[in-house]
Amino acid sequence: ELQVQHALNWIEKTNEKIQTNKDYLSALDRAIGDGDHGLNMARGFQEAVGKTTSSSYTSVSDIFKDVAMTLMSKVGGASGPLYGTAFLKMSMAVKGEDSVSHERFTKGVEEAINGIIQRGKAKEGDKTLLDVWTPVLRMLQEQSDFEADSLENTAKSAMESTKDVMAIKGRAAYLKERSIGHLDPGSVSSYYLFASLAEVLK
Ligand code: ADP
Ligand code: MG
Ligand code: MG
Repeated sequence: ELQVQHALNWIEKTNEKIQTNKDYLSALDRAIGDGDHGLNMARGFQEAVGKTTSSSYTSVSDIFKDVAMTLMSKVGGASGPLYGTAFLKMSMAVKGEDSVSHERFTKGVEEAINGIIQRGKAKEGDKTLLDVWTPVLRMLQEQSDFEADSLENTAKSAMESTKDVMAIKGRAAYLKERSIGHLDPGSVSSYYLFASLAEVLK
C-alpha cells in the first residue's frame, strides 16, 4: 500500500535527486535539446515540495493533484504539462482511497501514460519519457505487489536504452540521426522519479 506519508516522501526524494542532478539533466538536454530540462524540473519539484510540505493531507490523491497543478503552472517547456498531466491522471485514478493499493497505483500509471500520449502524441520508442514510463507500467502489471528492486532496475535499464534510439518526438527529433548516442533527458528525470519511489517503498 502506498500511504500518504509514502507519497510525501516520494515527492521529496524525487526533488532531492533532481536538485542534485540539475546540471546533469540540463547538460543532457544541451546535447539534443535546448538545455533547460534540469532547470525546468528543479523549479517544478522545488515548488511542488514547497506546496506538499506546507499542506496537510488525508489522501494520496490530493497530494498528486497538488503536484500536478504545481508542475503545470510553474514549469515551462514540454516537461511541465507532461509530468503535470501524469500526476493529474494518477490523482484521478487513485481518488476515493486514503492509501493506494498496488493494483490501483498500476491503473494510475496506465492513465498517466494515456494522458502523456494524448498531450504529446509520442509513442514508446520515440526517445521520450514514455520509454521509461511504459516499461515500468508493464513491470507493475506483471506483479501483484510493489517490488522496489525490480522497479528501480526496470526504470534504470529503460532509461539507459534511450541512448541508442533516434528521437521522433520532442526537440531532439530535429537532430534526427544525430540524436543517437545521447540519453533522453526526460527519461533520466523519469528514472529519478521511479528510483525515488523504489527507495520510499523499501
Ligand atoms: P523542452 O523540450 O520544451 O525544453 P524539457 O527540456 O523540460 O522541455 O523536457 C524535454 C523532455 O520532454 C524530453 O527529453 C522528452 O523526454 C520529453 N518530451 C518532449 N516532447 C515530448 C512528447 N511529445 N511526448 C512525450 N515526452 C516528450
Ligand atoms: Mg529543454
Ligand atoms: Mg525549453
